[in-house]
Amino acid sequence: MENIGICDECGSRFLKRASKMASLCPECASLLYGYDNCAHVFEDGICAKCLWDGSRSDYTEKIHKENER
Ligand SMILES: [Zn+2]
Ligand SMILES: [Zn+2]
Repeated sequence: MENIGICDECGSRFLKRASKMASLCPECASLLYGYDNCAHVFEDGICAKCLWDGSRSDYTEKIHKENER
């Protein structure tokens, strides 16, 4: 399906129109480049809005933890 992409960073599927970047999910685009993140709404472990499944690469996990401090 052409409107669903695979995130280059975390490997999750994502809805392309929900992300500012063609090759990154909204979560990774936000963590890596500061774009607006999706206000995720998880249903059965997958965001109903952008389809992100909660995956993180080691790198985005690290950024996420640093942001929480
Ligand atoms: Zn991602
Ligand atoms: Zn989302």
